[in-house]
Amino acid sequence: MPFRIFLSPPDVGTLEREYLLRAFDSGWITSMGPDVEAFESEVAAFTGSAHAVALASGTAALHLALLAVGVDAGDKVLTSTLTFAATANAIVYCGAHPVFIDSETHTWNMDPDLLSAELADRSARNDLPAAVVVVDIFGKCADYRVIEDICRLYGVPLIEDAAEALGASLNGRQAGTFGVVGILSFNGNKIMTTSGGGMLMTEDPAIAARARKLSTQAREPVAHYEHLEVGFNYRLSNLLAAVGRAQLARLPDMISRRRQIGKRYRDRLAILPGVAFQPDDRDGSNNSWLTVMTTDGAVDGTCAHSLIARLGESGIEARRVWKPMHLQPVFRYAESRLSGVAEELFQRGVCLPSGSTLDDHSVDEVCDLLVGCWQDAPTVPTPRAGNAVSTHALFERTTSATW
Ligand SMILES: *Cc1c(COP(=O)(O)O)cnc(C)c1O
Repeated sequence: MPFRIFLSPPDVGTLEREYLLRAFDSGWITSMGPDVEAFESEVAAFTGSAHAVALASGTAALHLALLAVGVDAGDKVLTSTLTFAATANAIVYCGAHPVFIDSETHTWNMDPDLLSAELADRSARNDLPAAVVVVDIFGKCADYRVIEDICRLYGVPLIEDAAEALGASLNGRQAGTFGVVGILSFNGNKIMTTSGGGMLMTEDPAIAARARKLSTQAREPVAHYEHLEVGFNYRLSNLLAAVGRAQLARLPDMISRRRQIGKRYRDRLAILPGVAFQPDDRDGSNNSWLTVMTTDGAVDGTCAHSLIARLGESGIEARRVWKPMHLQPVFRYAESRLSGVAEELFQRGVCLPSGSTLDDHSVDEVCDLLVGCWQDAPTVPTPRAGNAVSTHALFERTTSATW
């Protein structure tokens, strides 16, 4: 059955159309122009970063971020194992080798203790990585309060992959502004989209200038075409930047809608036996890009795979959590430091339809179907009282018992 309710479809309308046509009519149908410049400064202002460079994709932004901090062929780069392949692919584009670090249970992001242990070991054998790339998974910031200090201690540049996390924050700082350089994605499934695009953000003017140069075929600043090194064609089109400006104007509303959706799922589903959610911050600093539940599968027919299949039969698109990079055949030779958390999340996680265009009726339909999976099961254990208020504790309890 074709999907009726999608996981995270683009939320675009009249404002995007208006901005796009205005850019079209301006004649700037190219990869430079007033909308690119305005989009860069508006994203910089929104996130509070000094410099923003608009690029063709989040992957391109990661690639240039790695090059700009000096990652070279043969280097090691530590990164989160729980991520989309783009993070690890960009490391390989540089000829470097990814080393995968497992997640912790509170944020589902890179475990600072594992990072610290890995850097200590590497420091002892004089094999420090050229960079650390930390991912903010599903729109929740990693624990940068600790991670920034750890990276500083070893003098290793930190790159924040905030592709999923625009609008999330931690301690009053916006996602994408942690570490030396951060990146965003405006792919069609992200919290805001330009249909395809990305942004590199940094406080360091030299890194911004380096990324800008590499994104435009590394052309030297002289009148003729002079090249001292190999560059890329990674700029964002002016037409797409115009779409991005309209999306950015609507971003706060789109985020609050996603948060409402997340709350609606939690209110209905957290009482189900064996169900928990990605820990939510009470201060609402998660951008709620995707609402992700975990299921322990103890009740027949309620494992992640079965739930997703049941939803699919009704035209509802739900997905597994990213398959960790250390389990991907393409990265089978990569080193890693593991605890089992990311793999457990992959086994148990269900990404629920979370797009800001989703109405309450559709969210309720998804909930009804899921609740039905528990009700239809041959044996239904009695729900434990109080689950709804302590889903995080439940997740830690149920999982620590099995790891
Ligand atoms: C989407 C995504 C990317 C890649 O962004 P694109 O714009 O699709 O190239 C990188 N990292 C993470 C974590 C992502 O979710």
